[in-house]
Amino acid sequence: MKLVLFCLLAGVVPGWNETRVATFAPITLYTQFQQAPPAGVQQALQEEVEAIMAPIGLRFEWRDLGKTGGHEVFAELAVVTFKGRCDAADLTSRSRFEGALGWTHVSDGLILPFTDINCDRVRQLTQSGLLVFRAEDRAANYGRALGRVLAHELYHIFANTTRHGSIGVAKESYNMQDLLADDFQFQAKESRMLQANRQGAAVESMAGTLD
Ligand SMILES: [Zn+2]
Repeated sequence: MKLVLFCLLAGVVPGWNETRVATFAPITLYTQFQQAPPAGVQQALQEEVEAIMAPIGLRFEWRDLGKTGGHEVFAELAVVTFKGRCDAADLTSRSRFEGALGWTHVSDGLILPFTDINCDRVRQLTQSGLLVFRAEDRAANYGRALGRVLAHELYHIFANTTRHGSIGVAKESYNMQDLLADDFQFQAKESRMLQANRQGAAVESMAGTLD
């Protein structure tokens, strides 16, 4: 009996020394900025979301909401609005925290794929830490912080949960250290929730094509 179970397990594992992450169909992220961000901020933001999500198997295609023709239809998408000024200029040495850094819309208990990120609050929280970096590195570090806030909101949408983790990207509140540290990842539990939900979505969209 034990041997049979062992064989089934060996069948789903690709190899003894291989660790493979299933990759799912890419999710389209439509972004809009109240004020156009510097290229360095936007690039660092996208790279950070991808760095956090790729090990889990989630991939993204980024689109500018203002440049879409209105004829595109994607099964999996989210719309991200960046509020305020998304640059790392005019920093002061006094960080402050006022209100939410980001939020995802919920209606009648249903999580909607609409997220807002407050660029001003992320800058105000991290600015004293950003000043420690060389001037030419501040935009990239600020963009990375925005990417972490966005990854948190995408977790709510694509794990389809309002719950939070105790540590890591899914935790309820971030401090400056979380946003500026070299490394910030999801914990295993939240990674599994995201993967389980992606697998469910893939099965649903396959079933949909049979209609
Ligand atoms: Zn949250």
